[in-house]
Amino acid sequence: MADVPNVWEMTLARLDQTMSVLDLKPGVIKYLREPRRILEVAIPVKMDNGDIDIFKGYRVQHNTNRGPAKGGIRYHQDVTLDEIKALAMLMTWKCSLVNIPFGGSKGGIVVDPSKISKKELENLTRRYTYELLPFIGPEKDIPAPDVGTNAQIMAWIMDTYSIAKGYMVPGVVTGKPIELGGSQGREEATSRGAVYTLLCALKVLGIDASNLTVAIQGFGNVGSHAAKILHDLGFKIIALADVSGAIQNKNGIDPYKLSEFTKGNALAGYPEAEKFDPLKFFETKCDILIPAALENQITEKNAASVKARIIAEGANAPTTPAADPILKDNNIFIIPDVLCNSGGVTVSYFEWVQGNDAYFWSKRKVNLQLRDIMEKAFYEVYDFSTKRKLDMRNAALAIAVGRVAQAMKLRGVYP
Ligand code: GLU
Repeated sequence: MADVPNVWEMTLARLDQTMSVLDLKPGVIKYLREPRRILEVAIPVKMDNGDIDIFKGYRVQHNTNRGPAKGGIRYHQDVTLDEIKALAMLMTWKCSLVNIPFGGSKGGIVVDPSKISKKELENLTRRYTYELLPFIGPEKDIPAPDVGTNAQIMAWIMDTYSIAKGYMVPGVVTGKPIELGGSQGREEATSRGAVYTLLCALKVLGIDASNLTVAIQGFGNVGSHAAKILHDLGFKIIALADVSGAIQNKNGIDPYKLSEFTKGNALAGYPEAEKFDPLKFFETKCDILIPAALENQITEKNAASVKARIIAEGANAPTTPAADPILKDNNIFIIPDVLCNSGGVTVSYFEWVQGNDAYFWSKRKVNLQLRDIMEKAFYEVYDFSTKRKLDMRNAALAIAVGRVAQAMKLRGVYP
C-alpha cells in the first residue's frame, strides 16, 4: 500500500515543523524524535480449535521525562510498529498539553478482535500482559483502552499483572470497569472532553451553538458518545460513517436509537437514515465534522471538498500534514487531536489518582475537573496561536513539546 502515508514519518514531520518555532538545541531535537523503549513480542495463543496461533504485539514508550509513560493498547488488523511509535509520541504531547504528570506510550496487537472468540481474546490479552510485565506498572507505564479494546480487556490486564505481583494493583491500567476501581465518566471522557473544546471553539469564533449540524466518522467509543452528548445539547447529527458504510438524514439521526440498532446490525443498514457513498462522507455539508475513527482520513485528496466550519479531531492523527494547508486556505478551524481527544487520558489520570488514594470521586466531580482542564488547555492553545500567529495544531504542539523539552533540560541526561 505504497500510497498510504506513513503516520510515523508524518508525526516526525509535524514535530520538526513545531521545533522550528521553538528555540531548541540540536541534541534536544534528536532526543525528542526517538522513542525511549520499543518492545516487540510474538504472542502464542491456544485457539479454540486446539491449534496454536502467533500474534505480533508491540509496546512503545516514547518519553518519560514528565512522569510514567501513559497510553492505550490498540487491537486492530492493520497495526504496525510505525503506527504505534507515532501514537506513543502523540501521547507524550497530549499529556504535556493538558499538563498531567505523564509521558507517552502506546501498545498494539495485530489482530481483528471481532474475528476471535472471547476465550481467545482473553488468552491473547493475558499472554501479551505477561510479556509486558517488566515494562509496565503504576510508576512505569500505564495502559488504557484504545481502538478495539475495552474495560473487560483492562480487567484481564490488571488481573494478570496482579497475579504476578501477588496482590491487586489497580493502578497498572486505566479504563477499568468501575467495580474494579475504574473512574466514573471514563468511558465517555474522550467524547466529553472533545465537546468541551468544541464549545470553546464556538465561543471564540462567535458561532451561536443552536441548530448546528454535525457529521461523525466512527461510531465506536469516541464517535457514539460524542453523538449522544451533542444530541443531548441540541446539535443535529446529520451524517455518520463506519467500516460498514455511511448514512445521512437531514432531519437528524437519533444516536441512542442507532446505538441500540448497531448492537446486532451494521450501521449502514439503519432504516431511519439514507445510505450514501462513504467516499463522499467528508463532503457532507455540516457545521462540525468529527473524525473519530483511524488516522490518515482527511488527506490532500479529499481536504478541498470538506465543507465543515470546524473539524474536531476525536481520533488520533486523522488529518495528514498535506491536508492542513488546504483546510487552512478554506478557513476551516481545526481543534487538533492532541487537544481535542485529550479528555480520555485526562480522566485516566483522575482514575490513576483515585486508585492511588483509594478514594473515589463522583461523576459530577470528574466532569467538572475535566471541563476545567479542557477549557484551560483550549484557551492556552488559542491564545498562543493568536499571539504567535500559528495555527491551532502548531500552537498546541509548540506548548506541549516545549514543556517536555524543559522537563528534559531540568532533569539533565544521565550520567
Ligand atoms: N487511547 C486513548 C488515547 O489515545 C487514551 C489513553 C489513556 O487513557 O491512557 O488518548
